[in-house]
Amino acid sequence: MLDLKTKSEYERRIKGVLITEEEIAREVKRAGAEIDKIYDGRPILLVSILKGSFVFLADICRAVSVPSEVAFMCAKSYYEGTVSSGVVKITMDLDMDISGYHVVIIEDIVDTGRTLSDIIRILSARNPLSMHVVTLLDKPSRRLVDFKADISLFTIPDRFVIGYGLDCGEYYRNLPYIAEYEE
Ligand code: 5GP
Repeated sequence: MLDLKTKSEYERRIKGVLITEEEIAREVKRAGAEIDKIYDGRPILLVSILKGSFVFLADICRAVSVPSEVAFMCAKSYYEGTVSSGVVKITMDLDMDISGYHVVIIEDIVDTGRTLSDIIRILSARNPLSMHVVTLLDKPSRRLVDFKADISLFTIPDRFVIGYGLDCGEYYRNLPYIAEYEE
């Protein structure tokens, strides 16, 4: 939890809107159509990586028209303020067998690439029929491990961002847009 004593302090830290609600809605629609095209009517399992992707998942699951199920997995990257410690931990695993499923991983942001590399290694070993990764945001300039999502909605510069599911100290996930965070 952040030490925010007042609402004005909370608001002051929202530095500026980087991606508007309208831009998000437009790209979510495009990504949904792209997923439909890849799977061509075959059923899919949307695996949301919590907590950051819960808002994105809610929108993307309504933008696809192939039959879909949803499932949740929780991965935590440990942060010192806005700087990643490099430690990734699966704190809640899937509660189902994914062999027999076309898996679509739904992630909020690819930064160093560590989280998704780990998750893909873990899920691949469970023999899904296929696996694709969809990320809302991508910060390619910060990559430490070689990783590229199959579908990426927005490429952003090296800034710490909040909103539309992304937090700072658990706050700001409910902002309808994506903003830069003021330290
Ligand atoms: P990676 O393992 O790719 O370095 O980090 C992925 C995770 O770090 C994301 O799922 C997200 O939780 C967190 N993260 C990376 N960059 C940002 C950012 O700019 N804002 C927020 N709120 N979280 C971030």
